[in-house]
Amino acid sequence: MIWNLGSINADNFYYLRHLPAPGETIAAHDFRQGLGGKGANMSVAAARAGTRVMHIGAVGPDGKWTVDRLLEYGVETQHISMIDTATGHANICVAEDGENSIVLFSGANHQITTQMIGAALAEASPGDFLLMQNETLGQRFAAQTAHTLGLRVAYAAAPFDAEIVAQVLPDIDLLVLNEVEAEALEKTTGARIDALPIDDIIVTLGAEGCKWVSNKAKTVQSFPAYPVKAIDTTGAGDTFTGYLIAALDRKLSMPDAIALAMQAGALMVTRQGTADVIPDLKDIQDHGF
Ligand code: ADP
Repeated sequence: MIWNLGSINADNFYYLRHLPAPGETIAAHDFRQGLGGKGANMSVAAARAGTRVMHIGAVGPDGKWTVDRLLEYGVETQHISMIDTATGHANICVAEDGENSIVLFSGANHQITTQMIGAALAEASPGDFLLMQNETLGQRFAAQTAHTLGLRVAYAAAPFDAEIVAQVLPDIDLLVLNEVEAEALEKTTGARIDALPIDDIIVTLGAEGCKWVSNKAKTVQSFPAYPVKAIDTTGAGDTFTGYLIAALDRKLSMPDAIALAMQAGALMVTRQGTADVIPDLKDIQDHGF
């Protein structure tokens, strides 16, 4: 089972002729609201990959629909607290030429307390996974608590935050990050990633696939991506990570888990949207990679 300490956002898309200049007011000709946030994306991906996932998070009264949707997608939601503040959200302006500008507000995601995290992890079992990213608070407490309880700790270092990374590094078993984040990590720690005290590190490389750095076995293996026609790369990394951890939780080997995660990531870039369009196992099977 996966315990995912993660953000939940309402993604509000406003479709406009062009992006507003300072002082300008523009009427949007279309509006769409979807479920997003790196945490929610990863929970949905893990559930669609066929494993149990309990989301640990917080929303405001305006976010009840996000919890309902997570539930509908097979995510367990008993540890999503409803608190008296705005739900995290991203207001995304999309211009006709495809350019966008985004305002992010962390809202309830930054009101998650150590009490909430502790209450959830008290129900976890040794061997379960704790998964975390950087759009919430409480990562250090969660990682330490999970480690003490015998959970495996997986961390997606996104969006990159040098301070949080430094805090959680001693308690991480598996790290997932993209090329840009890997560079930032090497700068932060002053060490190459193959010298970090983490058993397994996966560096995702977009259309180039990914590499698996096993610091335990002292090996580095590259995995080429599955070729697809990409139209929207949003959520590819989150989908990859959710699938990867779910596959490992289902006891697949690392190479098999990586293959499945890359297939899910590849399908995801052929779709427009975030959590709502993350592929399930049947989609992957039907595609026939
Ligand atoms: P992030 O969104 O975090 O930067 P990546 O872009 O590296 O993550 O994507 C995660 C994974 O999704 C990649 O390792 C790859 O397997 C898959 N993927 C992403 N972009 C493509 C693409 N254009 N074609 C095929 N697979 C892709």
